[in-house]
Amino acid sequence: MLENHRPTSEMQALDAAHHMHPFTDGDALNAKGARIITSAKGVFVTDSEGEQILDGMAGLWCVNIGYGREEIAEAAARQIRQLSYYNTFFQTSHPPALELAAKLAELAPGDLNHVFFNGSGSDSNDTNMRMARHYWQLKGKPEKQIILSRWNAYHGSTMGSGSLSGMKAMHKQGGLPIPGIDWINQPDWWSEGGEMSPEEFGLARARELEAKILDLGEDKVAAFIAEPIQGAGGVIVPPETYWPEIQRIVDKYGILLIADEVICGFGRTGNWFGTQTFGLRPDIMTIAKGLSSGYVPIGGSLVSDKVAKVINAGGEFAHGYTYSAHPVAAAIALENLRIMQDEKIVEKMAADTAPYLKTKWEALTAHPMVGEAKIVGMMASIALTPDKAARAKFASKEGTVGLICRERCFANNLVMRHVGDRMVIAPPLVISRAEIDMLIERAI
Ligand code: PLP
Repeated sequence: MLENHRPTSEMQALDAAHHMHPFTDGDALNAKGARIITSAKGVFVTDSEGEQILDGMAGLWCVNIGYGREEIAEAAARQIRQLSYYNTFFQTSHPPALELAAKLAELAPGDLNHVFFNGSGSDSNDTNMRMARHYWQLKGKPEKQIILSRWNAYHGSTMGSGSLSGMKAMHKQGGLPIPGIDWINQPDWWSEGGEMSPEEFGLARARELEAKILDLGEDKVAAFIAEPIQGAGGVIVPPETYWPEIQRIVDKYGILLIADEVICGFGRTGNWFGTQTFGLRPDIMTIAKGLSSGYVPIGGSLVSDKVAKVINAGGEFAHGYTYSAHPVAAAIALENLRIMQDEKIVEKMAADTAPYLKTKWEALTAHPMVGEAKIVGMMASIALTPDKAARAKFASKEGTVGLICRERCFANNLVMRHVGDRMVIAPPLVISRAEIDMLIERAI
């Protein structure tokens, strides 16, 4: 047991008595007790028994620069001493907000030159939904209000973003989805491609967007939101034909494209943003997670000149959060981006460790139970299957085999995630070759 903490069993009892965990079966967890994480450094987290766990998920896809960087602690302390809080609602701004907005405009592709700050990915997508609808109201097309999304997408867990998400299990609880949202199918060739080639399937799934727009009426559709690579849905990398066709369709019908870069942003796909990896031109981009490498909560909506011009000219945009552009969070995000740029974290990863991981990851298909292996940059998945040739699913309840694998990895001091019977990793971008070797060893 580590010093300065209660014994593990006592902490587990307190946790079970008082702490309600997100996305968790409470009784099942409380019966066995949570694993208590007490510290972290680099790519490892340490539990209350002193076990070092290799974090193959960068927390929740967010700790891009790794844990425990002193410079971030210093930046936070400096900012707290200087200006611990102020809002930007009432004719004021502050240096961390304006510096971070300018830095993001510099890093972002295209004309995404404006930032609306939020507290998380979920409330960023709520902002985006309101902004897209308000944009069309201001453009004199108030009927254009429907937001299109995709089944199995994850865009957050608030009433708005949880509705945008295409997770049917979430929709069953608590009154989701709210009206004015519709979904098309995801581009998951392995599970749903049938006899089609990946290229044919990518085109077919993209064209569902066109069919949906025509069905609802192009005068009714405000925007299409999508993750460049569906993350929480299982790291679903679309076939190459998919994104160019989607871009053609949104351009043709004048639908706003909202790229949800909460996972893909800040280096994960090997470029600063996933839209650069896939050649997309979004009107609005959702950012969070890697923006601060998870050191504190912060999110944002990166907005194009086209949209910002209309919103800024439209009188008060009656929307915002107490912690929009929180100065401490903004100072930490700035320091995180400085570290990423100064240490060339994205470039080094894209040139060296990502290709190294790709070779190791794709070699996993030699295992009889591993079907498709997908990897882009530092996000990857494998589909577990009882029959590769048939791309078959296990007869057991969906997710049982994945859960068993996840539990085994965790017992083996490796964090992997399972999404159904798909195993997923998204390690910190700073993971070394030796740590990648360790990850693979602990996984198999
Ligand atoms: N969008 C995507 C693509 C995500 O993966 C997530 C979280 O995993 C969110 C939005 C929601 O972000 P948050 O959990 O910060 O609200």
